[in-house]
Amino acid sequence: MDLPVDEWKSYVFQKWSLLPKSIQVTISTAETLSDIFLHSSLLLQPEDEMFLQNLSRGYLVEKDPNAPLFYREEGNKKFQQKDYMGATVLYSKGISHSRPHTADISLCYANRSAALFHLGQHEMCLKDIMRAQMHGYPERLQPKMMLRKAECLVTLGRRQEASQTISDLESSFAAKPTLAAAQFQILQTNLCRLKMKAQEKESLTETFPAALTKALEDMDLKGENGQVPSASSSVSLRTDPLRGRYLVATKDILPGELLVKEDAFVSVLHPGEMPPLRHLESKWDTRVTNGDLYCHRCLDHTLATVPCDGCSYAKYCSHDCMQQAWDLYHSVECSLGGLLLTLGVFCHIALRSTLVARFEDASNVIRKLCGEIRNKDTCSPERETLVQTLTCDLGGESENKGKMLEPPVPGCDLNGKYESNYNAVFHLLPHTGNHSPEHRFLCALSVSALCRRLEAASCYKPAAAVPPGSGSELDVWGVAMLKHVLQLQCNAQAITTIQHTGSKENSVTNSRQVRLATGIFPVISLLNHSCSPNTSVSFISTVATVRASQQIEKGQEILHCYGPHQSRMRAAERQQKLRSQYFFDCSCAACQNEKHSAATGPRWEAFCCRSCGALMQGDDVLICGSTSCTESVSRDHLISRLQDLQQQVGMARKLLRNDKPERAIQLLLGCQRDAQSFLSGEHSLVGEMEDDLAQAYAALGDWQKSATHLQKSLRVVEVRHGPSSVEMGHELFKLAQLFFNGFAIPEALNTIQKAEKVLMVHYGPWNDEIQELQKMKSCLLDLPPIPAGPSVQGPNVFFR
Ligand SMILES: [Zn+2]
Ligand SMILES: [Zn+2]
Ligand SMILES: [Zn+2]
Ligand SMILES: [Zn+2]
Repeated sequence: MDLPVDEWKSYVFQKWSLLPKSIQVTISTAETLSDIFLHSSLLLQPEDEMFLQNLSRGYLVEKDPNAPLFYREEGNKKFQQKDYMGATVLYSKGISHSRPHTADISLCYANRSAALFHLGQHEMCLKDIMRAQMHGYPERLQPKMMLRKAECLVTLGRRQEASQTISDLESSFAAKPTLAAAQFQILQTNLCRLKMKAQEKESLTETFPAALTKALEDMDLKGENGQVPSASSSVSLRTDPLRGRYLVATKDILPGELLVKEDAFVSVLHPGEMPPLRHLESKWDTRVTNGDLYCHRCLDHTLATVPCDGCSYAKYCSHDCMQQAWDLYHSVECSLGGLLLTLGVFCHIALRSTLVARFEDASNVIRKLCGEIRNKDTCSPERETLVQTLTCDLGGESENKGKMLEPPVPGCDLNGKYESNYNAVFHLLPHTGNHSPEHRFLCALSVSALCRRLEAASCYKPAAAVPPGSGSELDVWGVAMLKHVLQLQCNAQAITTIQHTGSKENSVTNSRQVRLATGIFPVISLLNHSCSPNTSVSFISTVATVRASQQIEKGQEILHCYGPHQSRMRAAERQQKLRSQYFFDCSCAACQNEKHSAATGPRWEAFCCRSCGALMQGDDVLICGSTSCTESVSRDHLISRLQDLQQQVGMARKLLRNDKPERAIQLLLGCQRDAQSFLSGEHSLVGEMEDDLAQAYAALGDWQKSATHLQKSLRVVEVRHGPSSVEMGHELFKLAQLFFNGFAIPEALNTIQKAEKVLMVHYGPWNDEIQELQKMKSCLLDLPPIPAGPSVQGPNVFFR
């Protein structure tokens, strides 16, 4: 997904392997990024572009005039089955394929407004009604929609607007008695009912907090940091030859303190895991991806997307987001959807970065660099020098820097300020020399192809940075894009969100972290890696926040985990991953410690002795760790038992999903007995089984048993991830839900408090789960004292 699709990758690799040796050597040994780019670019043939274009066609990114009717009918089917969520998404797909001001688009909006109404999304319903009208909703269908509008307004307590709509409706009935008598009567009855409802609601007024904006405003950094404006005054930017640039604590920091709050320089929404419909028979895709549910600009979750007027793939939460995206980058990207999906997210981010740079002073920085180099080196052709200015890597970086008037820390402006801007992005390291020649060729050829398309479409107006008469502007920006693509391997930041799963009946929600988008965050890129970091990163919209996850003493480095975390991977696996993707050997505290205690491996993977229960040790043959015991067994044997067990647990989960909790429990209890004879009590599978049992009992409404099992799962999570980890927070949240549902008030309050404390450290107060915990708490505290006697089953008020 980050890199180009496999077909293009293997095509380019084959092209590379067929190149004459001399050309391979020229490109492999090229000194600068511009040499790599220009040499590769010359090799891009029309047939290569053709091949790429055919791949791009596999993506349905243009508006297809026949699609809206298809999606509307599919949506209507779902609507009839009362699957309003499914209907909403299909109507959205219909909308994204419609041209503005057509019957198609207005009908799709109107139908979606009905689905949203049934989902209780009255605000969004109103907006869709407005949109349907704006795009010319047919007169004859108006009354029914106006009635829906009035009903929404009443429900929302907007009394004045409601009565206005009602009286408009009445007068339109009077003016145009064209409706069939029966229909007229239904409308009249509804109108009367509505009038009464409106009167009842008279006193109710409601405000609509823009939760997101508020959350972001309220999240303030503690004190201004003059040097790094997106960071708090508790940290400071340092640099040394060994560690590069990094952040360090300037005072003692408490867990939960906000250290960095940074909006992505650019971010690109992930299109979703699904393969294009290239090989399938059906022409239109009814599958739901993240691209259907999240705003392509601000990444806000939304059911009522607004599409770009020009294509079917870019969808937004609002007209505002659409306009902003258009002005910043989408006016160029709009016609390139298929190509960008083929070339992958990194190429897309690279292009978008140069597009966003047009609006910044950063272009001035490049122009300045151009000027300085030109003064030093007047004999070489102007274009060459220009391109060279964009090539401060491949070992040449330090020498180049000596010649120029560089600020002390790369990426800072001349006053030493490090901001989240293009200048900072430009100075992130591309590690050109560490990438394989084939990979560099793939990236260079992909960027060249993109440049050719931009040239052909002549839609690309690059920044004013390149002085006129400097040769091809696109070449200069092509080199910049190549640099960005290479940078991204080490500097791309996954933007994640927590998705909650779990059926309504089940009432205990599981949460899982999903990758929503990829972004560039120049300030977060300053943080070095640790396999046991002292910070935690989370996202609201495109804004990342970094909080201290533990106490950090003055002078300590602020560390972030690039992915390989000690609670998820063994040291060897982490080292391998960090070396291949990030080109360094990790020597963090966790890696140092593990070197000395490699005998047993992590506890969540440990086997135990079948006769005495002590942990087993060794490699191929495991021996009981207890000195008084002689038990031994081959690892292969244990691994195959573990696989059998995993398969059984998988079957139990399937039963659970198919609403057969009793049978799932039977199976899981058997698995547990089996596990006890060879897995350590802290093995992750043991914990997962407890979690599954908790879910199964919750599905049966047995809160007590469910809570008992969840508490056991909690202990395993605690051993693996630590008592104040984010994983622990999510488990505590589940446990709080259980106690709440079971009306175990003291236990619920106690667990809510613990969950809040842990989640607050990682997410701050605006997290969904924390908000929900607070609602649960106030609900419990408001309860009248329970009279003695048999306990009552709690209502399931708050659960999704
Ligand atoms: Zn948006
Ligand atoms: Zn578009
Ligand atoms: Zn490490
Ligand atoms: Zn033993």
